[in-house]
Amino acid sequence: MRDVFTGSFTQQEPIPEDAIEAAVAVLRHGRLHRYNTLPGEAGEVAELEREFAALTGARFALAIASGGHAISTALRAAGVGPADPVLTNVFTLAPVPGAIAAVGGVPVYVGVTEGLVIDLDDLAVKLPRAKVLLLSHMRGHLCDMDRLMALCDAAGVRVIEDCAHTMGAAWNGTPSGRHGLAGCFSTQTYKHVNSGEGGFLITDDEDLAARAIMLSGSYMLYDRHLAAPGAEVFEQVKYDTPNISGRMDNLRAAILRPQLRRLEAQCAAWNARYRVVEAGIAGTPGLATIPRPEQERYVGSSIQFLLPDWSEDDIAEVLHRCAARGVELKWFGEAEPRGFTSRYDSWRYAPAQRLPESDRILRGLIDMRLPLTFTLEDCALIARIIRAEVGAVWQARA
Ligand SMILES: *Cc1c(COP(=O)(O)O)cnc(C)c1O
Repeated sequence: MRDVFTGSFTQQEPIPEDAIEAAVAVLRHGRLHRYNTLPGEAGEVAELEREFAALTGARFALAIASGGHAISTALRAAGVGPADPVLTNVFTLAPVPGAIAAVGGVPVYVGVTEGLVIDLDDLAVKLPRAKVLLLSHMRGHLCDMDRLMALCDAAGVRVIEDCAHTMGAAWNGTPSGRHGLAGCFSTQTYKHVNSGEGGFLITDDEDLAARAIMLSGSYMLYDRHLAAPGAEVFEQVKYDTPNISGRMDNLRAAILRPQLRRLEAQCAAWNARYRVVEAGIAGTPGLATIPRPEQERYVGSSIQFLLPDWSEDDIAEVLHRCAARGVELKWFGEAEPRGFTSRYDSWRYAPAQRLPESDRILRGLIDMRLPLTFTLEDCALIARIIRAEVGAVWQARA
């Protein structure tokens, strides 16, 4: 019997009932705009910001229209402007170089290791070329953040973390997003909490927080924020910070607040699924799983593995055979951008760069989502299918 998996890799869980109720309450009163509040009422967005600051331990938090907008806002608030180089990961998602482009900056790519994190040796060489590193914890893999921060601090390079896949994760006990100048998160459907679209920016830096709030489109209503610096800080920036509208609204905030309260349990549920798949594919000949460092508290909302130095035809064959059995794998090495994935050489608005060692790793990099609608049994079946199909292609080529 050839098992076939019939679940959907893009189906997240429904919005929890208490979040639906909170959303309906907002719809009933009609005050969806974040600053449309009754006397004495903070509003869902302001409450959400206060709760997210508490959750992450940040002094300041801003909810915003998307994860990508959080990043471009953080870059602009940190002073990145036209023609400024910005160091960033060569292995990331298109909105990351896109956020650099949004402020007129120029991406300078840093290589990826076989552990799927930024190559700190390559970073050390390139640090003198920029004042800011936009560090993307792509697919939830955290690099040695202690070494990264030591390198960047010594070079005077400020770090903005892209935590789209690391909400709930930590390195050495410090939450992701709390290592550098600012952390940016996404609340888009495929991330760790789901409001359709949305994002957060967190920081301890008063000046950056005030600028980001002005940039997000606060008008002069910044005193309505509950996780913001004092009015005197806004006095310093309010005349020369543009309003680049990108606010969060009360409806999405209402949906997010109950989800944040469940985040830890959700992360545990992801990791249980991740471990089943990881154990099921480990030891498959020709396949390398990605080791997870002891200091890393990760959130396994997706899983990656390498088919190192395989030919493109053989990898395409594995993808094809897995797809025929209902297992949807993504291939970051594919030359032509498809769906949500694209490779750095297809971001042609940025100056072309060559990173041959990263190319070699990306060529064999396979990725799979693990939505919480999958049961542990589903995960075991998926792993069996991957193991069998990788094994079949590997044997045929031997
Ligand atoms: C999704 C994602 C973003 C951007 O988030 P949006 O909310 O979709 O704008 C940024 N970085 C990474 C790595 C992502 O996966």
